Amino acid sequence: PLFVKSWVFIRGVPAMKFLPPEGPLEVAFAGRSNVGKSSLINALVGHKGLARTSNTPGRTQELNYFVPDGYTGEEGNLPPMALVDMPGYGYAQAPKEHVDAWTKLVFDYLRGRATLKRVYVLIDSRHGIKKNDDEVLSLLDKAAVSYQIVLTKTDKIKEAGVPRLISETLEKIRKRPAAFPEVIATSSEKGKGLDELRHAIAETVGY
Ligand code: GDP
Repeated sequence: PLFVKSWVFIRGVPAMKFLPPEGPLEVAFAGRSNVGKSSLINALVGHKGLARTSNTPGRTQELNYFVPDGYTGEEGNLPPMALVDMPGYGYAQAPKEHVDAWTKLVFDYLRGRATLKRVYVLIDSRHGIKKNDDEVLSLLDKAAVSYQIVLTKTDKIKEAGVPRLISETLEKIRKRPAAFPEVIATSSEKGKGLDELRHAIAETVGY
């Protein structure tokens, strides 16, 4: 598991004013609906039900905060670090108000959260970087928030294709100013790449 024995959900944040007090360093996870974000977070922390895996796509419009057990996130009981599950994007049936609300919340958060150290942007191995992923990468570049690409569900593609997919992905982000120039390939199902990702997170937050 990730650093500690157990992680807990402390709150869902629908707007900036509901954010926990700033202090602990944070890493966040972003990706299109169904990319495998909940599964990856659960696999990382070794806790199956932590991030719900069966969210109705496009429904959860909140930043979900997870911290090591024993902390409330309130002033006086701040955790050493936090994981933030960002709402999924790119759900085809999402009404425009949802997309606008998503963009506002996410952009406010990216711009306004000094303790946010890195965003892990999840990309489905079968689909690669899509138009709406590209838009999110541009948002991150504009907000000057460091991000790293994580490929998900690599068990769904041929093993021999993984190195090529990594280099193609690297090539696509080469000119992006805030992109970390390494791509991590994972499969939550097979437990692949999880230690590499844990290591990257540890380096990012120094925990
Ligand atoms: P989210 O919407 O991004 O949170 O995605 P979920 O974690 O709920 O996963 C979406 C679907 O992809 C579910 O049916 C998962 O079982 C499946 N899934 C997630 N990770 C993997 C993986 O590593 N390999 C495979 N084969 N399926 C996965």
